[in-house]
Amino acid sequence: MSLTKDQIRAWLMNVPHPEGGNIVERGSVVNIAACDNNASVRMTLVQGPNDPEPSRETMLALGGRIDQVVRAAAMASGIEPIVLSVEFVDHNGKVIAKTGAGAPKESSPAPKQAPVQQSASGIDGVKHIIAVGAGKGGVGKSTISVNLAVGLARKGHAVGLLDGDIYGPSLPTMLGLDAMDQTVLDGALQPFLVHGVKAVTMGKLVDADKPLIWRGPMAHGAFTQLAERTQWGELDYLVIDLPPGTGDVPLTMAQSLKLTGAVVVCTPQKVAQDDAVRAAKMFEQLGVEVLGVVENMSYFIGDDGKEYDIFGRGGAEKMAQRLGLPFLGSVPINTALRQNSDSGDPSANFDAETAGGGQLPKALERLVQNLEGQMNLASLKQGRSRPTLTVR
Ligand code: ADP
Repeated sequence: MSLTKDQIRAWLMNVPHPEGGNIVERGSVVNIAACDNNASVRMTLVQGPNDPEPSRETMLALGGRIDQVVRAAAMASGIEPIVLSVEFVDHNGKVIAKTGAGAPKESSPAPKQAPVQQSASGIDGVKHIIAVGAGKGGVGKSTISVNLAVGLARKGHAVGLLDGDIYGPSLPTMLGLDAMDQTVLDGALQPFLVHGVKAVTMGKLVDADKPLIWRGPMAHGAFTQLAERTQWGELDYLVIDLPPGTGDVPLTMAQSLKLTGAVVVCTPQKVAQDDAVRAAKMFEQLGVEVLGVVENMSYFIGDDGKEYDIFGRGGAEKMAQRLGLPFLGSVPINTALRQNSDSGDPSANFDAETAGGGQLPKALERLVQNLEGQMNLASLKQGRSRPTLTVR
């Protein structure tokens, strides 16, 4: 069972408004977003521009009360643990206080500007960065990025997911972020907490219907802002969905962060392989270890249960062998995978009932396990002496 907006709205009717009545009937609840066990509630205690701003104590106390009520009701409904954030906005929609998940601790306020970044990854609090690249678009790079991130999170790791595909961000759809609003606190982007993953995407910062036209340096600037100005907190892995290809933009992106390694996604056809070889070579030239190759859309499982090799199964595996790269596994063409991506529910890919059978969950779990293994090897090898890449 997971949280729903209507359910949360009903629970919030039990929270008293400081001036009488409950917060729902007083019109203080501006927006509710829910996904899985994660929810955020946006509140306001000012109705017009002339209303005085409530005191910080009032907002924090009310946030705490909302947290208590929702948590208790969720537990009574068998939904736990939950992650809840409550934010208060002024009449212009500007966030003026936040409690719960992602809120700064009252006793030690977050610094306004991120401190000089000291961790091995170059992003404070982030242990490892994994870039997911592909030689060409449409091979399933975003799909694999999302499922790797969700799979790693399901194994208990703290995972972030950065949609670096700034030209065509797919994460809002694939993670079901449509109903949620991006929040910024003290100059830092607050990641969305969905499917156990902390996600950030350009798609939630710009108009979804407008084409995103970035020139080289702008693209690079936008990407670094997303990576470095997000309040990631402590992360074991930050997965980055790079733009496709080996052009200037993916190249500078891969170069501007200290990556532990890269994953190359490829379909089995010869033409896709040729592009994937170029992507793998790009990482190697940058001194970034290729953690492995994933063969997506490897084969198709028909209703008759037979496996059909549409694109020439095994092509990417052979390519990996040829280049001396690890092969992380193959993912079949699967209708449920496509549907779950379109409906923003990647968690459903890990459950046989919602994944069109057990093959997809098994394939994804194998992939995640192999990636974990390669990550462990890479971090052992790199240790403290890993080379630092130039930041342009
Ligand atoms: P890319 O990021 O490489 O451009 P996407 O991940 O956006 O590619 O995938 C393109 C489309 O193909 C999406 O609609 C996605 O749902 C679908 N897709 C990707 N991999 C599979 C698969 N193994 N089975 C079915 N559909 C897939």
